[in-house]
Amino acid sequence: MLSYAEANNIIANEIMKINLEIEEVDLLDSLNRILAEDVYADVNLPQFDNSAVDGYAVKYNSEILKWKIVGEITAGNYNEIDVDENSAVLIMTGSKIPSACNTIIPIEDVTTEDEFVKFIGNTKYKPGQNVRKKAEDIILNELAVQRGTRILPQLISLLAACGKNKVKVFRQLKIGVLATGDELVDIHTSPKEDKIRATNLYTLLALIKQLYMIPVNYGFVKDGKDEIKIRIESALNDKIDILLTTGGVSVGKFDYVKEVIQELGVEIKFWKANIKPGKPIVFGVFEREGKKKLIFGLPGNPVSSFVNFIIFARDNIKKLYGMDEQKVKARLMSELHKKDNKRHFIRGSIQKDNASNQYSVSLIGSQSSGNMVGMSKANCLITFEEEKDNLAHGDFVECIMI
Ligand code: AMP
Ligand code: MG
Repeated sequence: MLSYAEANNIIANEIMKINLEIEEVDLLDSLNRILAEDVYADVNLPQFDNSAVDGYAVKYNSEILKWKIVGEITAGNYNEIDVDENSAVLIMTGSKIPSACNTIIPIEDVTTEDEFVKFIGNTKYKPGQNVRKKAEDIILNELAVQRGTRILPQLISLLAACGKNKVKVFRQLKIGVLATGDELVDIHTSPKEDKIRATNLYTLLALIKQLYMIPVNYGFVKDGKDEIKIRIESALNDKIDILLTTGGVSVGKFDYVKEVIQELGVEIKFWKANIKPGKPIVFGVFEREGKKKLIFGLPGNPVSSFVNFIIFARDNIKKLYGMDEQKVKARLMSELHKKDNKRHFIRGSIQKDNASNQYSVSLIGSQSSGNMVGMSKANCLITFEEEKDNLAHGDFVECIMI
């Protein structure tokens, strides 16, 4: 059986071969996508010296405490006004400042009397105060945003300021999900007797959405070889990059997925990895007319399929897009023991101690691979390596954020 690292290498190798074409989308549609071009400033930012406050623009001289108001400028309505050391212009935030002025006195620091404005008390200023200088943020033609950056809302203003009404981004992968099992009913029905709701279908679709990839819901199918074959074949005929199935990949009598995909011409790259949970995973590549589709046959246990997706699919897709890994080292707040030589992924709850800036991680309740309540409380997976059989309280462990 392959180790985690061997299995992961095989998957990583295939995922890194996926061709990420570039598409151009409207600025708003670029949210959460990965930028596929370097964006340069097509203007200076700020474009002109402007006021950071509502106040009075003056040519500052520390000896002068009173000025004659000689005009006013509002944002977007500049007019050139002659100013000397004894005069001031009422100016609003963001307005271009008169060329003779170098300092803005905030409205809160002055009083007005007829056409004069004077300091309250004897406040001292430095020349240049409250002026936002032309090009102090970014200079015309300077690199503003680097290719590979995730477009978050806080980046939108800079892209907009650079005139990007259209943005080049990498395309999103289309990932289909098909659940298998005679026991499955859809989540809006009440499960009778020995039926269960097809929860994995929704978990996997949610994981795909969280990655900002495009989920395709293929629903669920009974444990019949022919039915499964028809559904997988039809999914493989769709324009998807990856197909995830859940259930039916173990050694049970009705676990047909591996056999079926093999019959459909999928090249099985491996079956089973030396991990817990999620050991029965099967991974293959379907190639037609030079185009490849990757197939992950994930086990049916809710925690197993979740963990498999995170460690094998999510983290490699993130790598493909150049996104950061979500791993941190944390101090383990309990002991852990195991007797096998598998790599375990233990559901944990990680916290950051703000004083020490260190992470600590404790175990959440049940570690059963069927327990959704336990999984719902976890915010990380603790890695418990193959060769170790004990982890002591206080040991540093690697945690994969989920
Ligand atoms: P299997 O991998 O098909 O042997 O299924 C292992 C366990 O996962 C069984 O208890 C199944 O009932 C359960 N299971 C299978 N598919 C799903 C699903 N889509 N949602 C929730 N549980 C499932
Ligand atoms: Mg099954």
